Amino acid sequence: MSQWCERCERAEESDTCEVCGEHLISEQQPSLPWTWKFMIASTIVYVIWRIYQLISWLLR
Ligand SMILES: [Zn+2]
Repeated sequence: MSQWCERCERAEESDTCEVCGEHLISEQQPSLPWTWKFMIASTIVYVIWRIYQLISWLLR
């Protein structure tokens, strides 16, 4: 499976270009964006806050 170097405009058999040394692995693992992490964290905090409110309402 040959890769294609955009910088040198040549085909390369290995994962690294022999001319410029650039990594030619096209399939990169998409990282979870920080906005998603923030939304998940705020949702967890909101749920915990609601449970705390419910417990304190039940116990009064
Ligand atoms: Zn190259």
